[in-house]
Amino acid sequence: MKNQTPLTVAYFTMEIGLESSMPTFAGGLGMLAADIMRSAADLKVPAACISVAWEHGYLRQQIRSDGTQSYEQISWNKEQFLKKTSEVISVTIEGRDVKVGAWKYEIRSGDHIVPVFFLDTNIVGNTPEDRAITDQLYGGDGAMRLKQEVVLGIGGVRMLRALGFSDIGTFHMNEGHAAFLTLELLKEREFKDENVRPSCAFTTHTPVKAGHDVFDYALAHKVVGDMLPWHIQKIAGADALSMTELAMNLSRFTCGVSQIHGEVSRGMFPGHRIDAITNGVHHVHWTCEEMRTLFDKTIPGWREDPSLLAAHCRDIPDQELWGAHREAKKRLVDEVNLRTSLGFDPDHLLIASARRVVPYKRPELLYTNLLRLKEVCCGRIQIIHAGNAHPSDPFSQGVIQRMVERSKELRDCVRIAYLENYNPDLAKLLVSGADVWLNTPLRLHEASGTSGMKACLNGVINMSALDGWWVEAYGRDYEAGWRIGPLANAVEGQIHTKIDAEDLYTQLQYEVIPEYYYHDHVRWIRRMKRSIGLMGHFNSHRCVREYLAKAWKR
Ligand SMILES: *Cc1c(COP(=O)(O)O)cnc(C)c1O
Repeated sequence: MKNQTPLTVAYFTMEIGLESSMPTFAGGLGMLAADIMRSAADLKVPAACISVAWEHGYLRQQIRSDGTQSYEQISWNKEQFLKKTSEVISVTIEGRDVKVGAWKYEIRSGDHIVPVFFLDTNIVGNTPEDRAITDQLYGGDGAMRLKQEVVLGIGGVRMLRALGFSDIGTFHMNEGHAAFLTLELLKEREFKDENVRPSCAFTTHTPVKAGHDVFDYALAHKVVGDMLPWHIQKIAGADALSMTELAMNLSRFTCGVSQIHGEVSRGMFPGHRIDAITNGVHHVHWTCEEMRTLFDKTIPGWREDPSLLAAHCRDIPDQELWGAHREAKKRLVDEVNLRTSLGFDPDHLLIASARRVVPYKRPELLYTNLLRLKEVCCGRIQIIHAGNAHPSDPFSQGVIQRMVERSKELRDCVRIAYLENYNPDLAKLLVSGADVWLNTPLRLHEASGTSGMKACLNGVINMSALDGWWVEAYGRDYEAGWRIGPLANAVEGQIHTKIDAEDLYTQLQYEVIPEYYYHDHVRWIRRMKRSIGLMGHFNSHRCVREYLAKAWKR
């Protein structure tokens, strides 16, 4: 056992999206974890990350020509990206000893390193059944999920100890999945809540009830066994084991991921103190090559200090900004034309919308009224969609099939492409190559959203329902993009969707489309700069600084 230097934070996360070919993530939660760790590395925060070496994290989506989807498992060679550590610890699951190994990935920035340890039960000495615990991210039933959370939480703390990290300021739970880390800390500290609470912080990520892990106590006792302390019902809920309750009750700091999400979370969990730290994205990582070159020239120092983007976005020369955007757009259009026979045109307004296909994101809002869509958009816009779904989810099957049918029907009027296999590489192509980034969530359902921030970095303009981060961004500068729907509070259901759809068509008709085709794009370019300016705030450096001040202070 080596004696390691003290850590300000050990960041526990079920998923982390560091590279497209490492399938250790499913979506936004994992992408955020990666950006937070990248910024921690840049800011020289003594940090380490604990995650899981999923054999099969996200699955590769394929869309057949009739719009049906299939998902195949990605195989990856861990040795290609990670280094195996020699430490092996064990956890008890269903009364059995399960061995847990770890793989190390290093996020380097200058001479500072943030290690990411990926836990793995697929090792010698485990039964085939236990080897499968780290097989599939979010696959399997409640019992499997509990096993995975034991590995992440309890196994994670033990692995850190085995690696020699004895001095850790804060154990951070990125979502409730990691809340079992508190059980190991209770065991280390005389089973006293007040001995654990000062060392823990927690971020909740979803305002949707079903997104919070809740387990039956009978099942939890069977799987987790003696590690559940005698007072578990006091700290994790009387009727069922809520990972969110457990995390909140044993943390000294809890937050949501945007100001409005903080508010919604306080309503969901009355009696808890819930703060808010709005998400951010890693500015250098998500800015395309052409824009990086341009920022290097016109906003020197932006790599180290992204807040400069706010003050100096106006200094970027119009034609150079448009030129850099054109290059990125051409790259995206070329990719679409390679993948489809739709003949996308770099001179046409290009709208992109990419996100997980779930009902609250309303992926078909733009198609609510096809007559209106044709009237407003014929011959003037082209649209790209992308987004994965749960393989067996009937909602997403229906959405993508209708999208493919519409694409055929409307092809002479509006080009619509649905690109398969949304991953970080495709995300980067889209958030830099589109003109408009469209986001249509049902209000109060999107915790933050981060893809729109990535778009801003590249001068791509957001058109979004007022939810999550966009409430704050639009409040900072309402000329940086467009909002969909009224300013008034959200009302549930169909009425809301009709109002939002009509608003979307009206704005496309009278603002977006005319502005885009307006002489020399002058008004458009002004908005592009304002979008870039927003990123003085919505970057993950600012986010990490807020975590340091509020959640990770020693
Ligand atoms: C940024 C990103 C997300 C999260 O974006 P949202 O705005 O929250 O939908 C999801 N998947 C990938 C691949 C991303 O790059």
